[in-house]
Amino acid sequence: MPSSGTGTALERLSGVREVVDGVFALRLGMVNVHLVVTDDGVVLVDTGLPGQAAAIERAARKLGTPHAILLTHHHPDHAGSAAALRERTGARLFAHAAEAPFLTGHFQADEPEGRLRKFLFRRLAKVEPTKIDQLVGDGAEPLPGFTVLHTPGHTRGHLSFLLDRAGGVMFAGDAATAEKGAVERFAELDFEHAVFGHGPAVSGRAAEQLRPR
Ligand SMILES: [Zn+2]
Ligand SMILES: [Zn+2]
Repeated sequence: MPSSGTGTALERLSGVREVVDGVFALRLGMVNVHLVVTDDGVVLVDTGLPGQAAAIERAARKLGTPHAILLTHHHPDHAGSAAALRERTGARLFAHAAEAPFLTGHFQADEPEGRLRKFLFRRLAKVEPTKIDQLVGDGAEPLPGFTVLHTPGHTRGHLSFLLDRAGGVMFAGDAATAEKGAVERFAELDFEHAVFGHGPAVSGRAAEQLRPR
């Protein structure tokens, strides 16, 4: 992977950055979504805010149309464009059962702590309900190479996904944001790389760096 400031032609064209072999990060303002190129097609992890489907599709174009969407949790910065992307691409959507009522529109999203976050959250919370194609739980392997980890704390049904590639790539969503339970869960595992819903990826001995000190 070239680490020059200008990036590859693909990166310049689409705004995606290759974190590690076939794993691409697309930064959409405050939130990251990830695209994984596999033998079966492109897998999308999380879907950004409402209204970001077109931007994600544009970025994915050079890689291929996503055929699967893995959702870490229901918050509007992760599931915001899930309904639109599922419809536009025909991708199958995977999520945890505890997130389902929020995603399918039966419940309003549970609100975070703190007045500012509450305020922002309400403004963002107009997420279009979506169907879920498959509920997945801890230990599931819904797609070749991906293992599902139930990492509750940030939300009850928060999932992380461990991809068996390049020494292991952890898609941690928001699980690593100081949630003790999830961090302990990560400590049981070994993986070289970790990517998050917000902020930069960790490359090289990521599991060690996420371990509680
Ligand atoms: Zn969240
Ligand atoms: Zn988030």
